[in-house]
Amino acid sequence: MRRRNFIAATGLSLLGATKLVGQNPSFPFINSKKRSNTIHVKVLIVGGGSAGVGAAIAAAKTGAETLLIENYGFFGGVATWSLGMCLNQMRPNEESRGFIHELLLQKLQNLGEQAVRQSTHQFFVNVEYLKVAILDALDEVGCKYLVHVKAVDTITKGNRVAGVIVSTKSGLVEINADVVVDCTGDLDVAFFSGASTLKETGILAPQTLLLNVSNINNYKSNDMVGVVSKAKSKYPLIPDGWGLAKVSNSHHYYINHSGTKDLGNFDITDPEQFSKAECLSRRQAVQMTEAMREFGGGELKNSELIGTSTQIGVRESRRILGSYVITEEDAMNGSKFEDVIAWRSGWLDIGFTKLSLMKIHQVPYRAIVPEKIDGLLTAGRCISASHEGAAAGKSMGNCIATGHAAGIAAALSSKLKKQPRELNVREIQDKLRKDGVNLTKGGENQDHKMSN
Ligand SMILES: Cc1cc2nc3c(=O)[nH]c(=O)nc-3n(C[C@H](O)[C@H](O)[C@H](O)COP(=O)(O)OP(=O)(O)OC[C@H]3O[C@@H](n4cnc5c(N)ncnc54)[C@H](O)[C@@H]3O)c2cc1C
Repeated sequence: MRRRNFIAATGLSLLGATKLVGQNPSFPFINSKKRSNTIHVKVLIVGGGSAGVGAAIAAAKTGAETLLIENYGFFGGVATWSLGMCLNQMRPNEESRGFIHELLLQKLQNLGEQAVRQSTHQFFVNVEYLKVAILDALDEVGCKYLVHVKAVDTITKGNRVAGVIVSTKSGLVEINADVVVDCTGDLDVAFFSGASTLKETGILAPQTLLLNVSNINNYKSNDMVGVVSKAKSKYPLIPDGWGLAKVSNSHHYYINHSGTKDLGNFDITDPEQFSKAECLSRRQAVQMTEAMREFGGGELKNSELIGTSTQIGVRESRRILGSYVITEEDAMNGSKFEDVIAWRSGWLDIGFTKLSLMKIHQVPYRAIVPEKIDGLLTAGRCISASHEGAAAGKSMGNCIATGHAAGIAAALSSKLKKQPRELNVREIQDKLRKDGVNLTKGGENQDHKMSN
């Protein structure tokens, strides 16, 4: 992104960083460890994955001063960590899902043919292009953003979240906001605020460190079972099988696989278990590549491991307890709700554990609002859903959709000076319709082309 655009996007001045202190009341960047300087924004989106990007674009487009913050140095979350994995349910049956999905597609296409390859409902992306396409989309709607900023606690007033405390290179900073949208995937903000969260079964979907491999000769087969049977005794961490899929329009491949499924049940909100899962997965990636090189025959014998995800991909961790919890039955029956704010399509997929073709089903507003905490909304994979219900909505197109609704709700909440739970849902629905979202969907069967 051009420097001028970045400056416009963040509201930062052209002067050096030390002169930035207090220059823009929205961004009084601190140059000491004191926490006397605070930032205030109307809407704060924490976490820049699919849901956070959706929420940020929606809130800014709805007219709220919006700040999106992200722990890593780029946006996209799993969509960009994962080195080319397809974004599912972006255009089911090649139909638009609304303004945000289309804006991201347009920004990708503007970057050239390396950026994206479309399929029935999927975008296969080159993640380096996606990182830039997201910046372009955020700039277009005037959303402010900061990377390398991690939420580590909340500021609460009674039962209301009034902001978050973030860790930066200048130490801890307070960001106050009228409304915070928790798009961290792991529900960090809600958890820090004391909100009730769900992890009810004690069993969580496996984590996976995705791989990029290159130098594959005329790859045709998609079955690694033969390789695994020969390689397992030498490489005990490798999964039972995996396939290779082309990254966008390039000549290298990404590998999604069952990850930690046979290595243990890891809850990544426990630092020790997170570390263990991450480190095991890094050994696993090398073992998988060596297994392909040694036992994969002519197609695979020169395979080269050229990258792994920024961190292990987490399919499931904490989810918010809202006044409605989406269940497996909702997904399989295609439930509809009066307070619909999004719909979800694709498969109920618990990461190589359970795979059921569900019906298109709706998400009620009650599932993105915490049961008891004010000033807070959630979106993406941490909305209010059971273990199976969460697995039914985690495709990235679906996460953008709940982000879209949460962003609009946050902007309205700030503007009308009402808590998210006090909003008239019809106002959110009207704005979603104006953004091209079809809220009549729900109950339809899907065919098998709608892969996970
Ligand atoms: C291994 C794997 C394979 C998958 N396969 C597919 C697939 O093929 N197609 C598909 O569509 N979906 C797939 N999914 C599902 C999909 O990727 C996720 O459901 C989706 O990315 C969730 O979006 P999100 O925005 O809720 O969370 P995430 O994508 O996890 O984004 C959360 C963001 O918040 C940031 N963050 C977290 N904590 C903090 C904090 N405290 N402060 C600041 N920032 C923070 C993170 O860095 C991250 O950028 C897969 C998931 C996994 C893990």
